Amino acid sequence: MNKTTSVAIIIVCSAVAAFSFYKYILSPGTPGQADISSKDNTWVKCKSCQAESQMKLQDFYDALKENTDPSVVIVTPGLKCKECGKNTVYQAIKCPNCGTVFIKGSVPRDLEDRCPKCKYSETEESRKSPKTAG
Ligand SMILES: [Zn+2]
Ligand SMILES: [Zn+2]
Repeated sequence: MNKTTSVAIIIVCSAVAAFSFYKYILSPGTPGQADISSKDNTWVKCKSCQAESQMKLQDFYDALKENTDPSVVIVTPGLKCKECGKNTVYQAIKCPNCGTVFIKGSVPRDLEDRCPKCKYSETEESRKSPKTAG
């Protein structure tokens, strides 16, 4: 098989893969895909311009994967911000107590879901009040 043929095959394969992928995304009511619950969504926040938004958790991880170059050690890879264009968008948490959206781990050396505003942490609360009675 000559080189041109191999390249052509790769292009065709990629095109088919991309097509199936978009078809899957665009097809309404995919079986097994129920309504997006809040658990499947995550908050994201830009460190540079403070833009907050919600996105599908799966999309977040996919974008993170695309953004991460395995040959380079990136400690905290950020996603590209739609507002300011900088790669400083990180996963965030909406405080169930005061509603502030903050980047995970905003409080250093503390629980990553600690709210920098009201100091509420869901993790801490769940530890404080064990569900088992008695
Ligand atoms: Zn931004
Ligand atoms: Zn709070």
